[in-house]
Amino acid sequence: MSIYGDYIKSVIRTVPDWPQSGINFRDITPLLQNSSAFRKLIDSFVHRYQDMELDAIAAIDARGFIIGAPVAYELGCSFVPVRKKGKLPFRTISETYTLEYGKSEVELHSDAFQQGDRILIMDDLIATGGTMLAAARLITRSGGQVVETATIIDLPEIGGSRKIREAGFGVFAVCS
Ligand code: AMP
Repeated sequence: MSIYGDYIKSVIRTVPDWPQSGINFRDITPLLQNSSAFRKLIDSFVHRYQDMELDAIAAIDARGFIIGAPVAYELGCSFVPVRKKGKLPFRTISETYTLEYGKSEVELHSDAFQQGDRILIMDDLIATGGTMLAAARLITRSGGQVVETATIIDLPEIGGSRKIREAGFGVFAVCS
C-alpha cells in the first residue's frame, strides 16, 4: 500500500451491478479527472520502482495503459502493451484466462522482450488475478523476468492477489 492509498481510494467510484448484476465496478475516471490524485498515483509507482532497474513495463489493455505509460516515461524504461486478442499487428503469443465476468485472451508481440529483461506488469485492478497471471505467463514464455505486478486497486476478498503471490510473483497495490 502507498502512503496515498486512502486518498486514492477516496477518489475511486464504485458502481454497483455494472457491467452485470453482482459486480461492484471500481471506476477510476474520477481519479483520472483529478490531476492532483493522478499525480500522486503515478508518483506512488515511480517511488516504488525507481531503483529496481526495470527494462520495461508491460501494461494490460486498456486501463493498465493509462498508468503504465507515464510510469515508463518517468523511469526511462520501455513500454510494452499486453493487448486483448486481435489488436496487435505483428507475430503474437497468447494466453486465455477467466475473468470475474466472462473469459478473455491476451496477446503480446513475440519480439517484445530480450532474454532476461526485468519486467513490471501493471493493470488498474486485481480481482481473480486471472489477467495478471495470464500476462505473467506471456512474459515468462517470451524470456522476460517478472520483477513484480502492480495495480491501483486490489480486491483481496476475491483472492486474486493471493493466487498471484502463490504463483511466485510479488504484488504491489496502491489501495485495497
Ligand atoms: P481479474 O483478471 O479477475 O483479476 O480482473 C482484472 C481485470 O478485469 C482488470 O483488467 C480490470 O480492469 C477488470 N476488472 C475486473 N473486475 C473489476 C471490477 N470490479 N472493477 C473494475 N475493473 C474490473
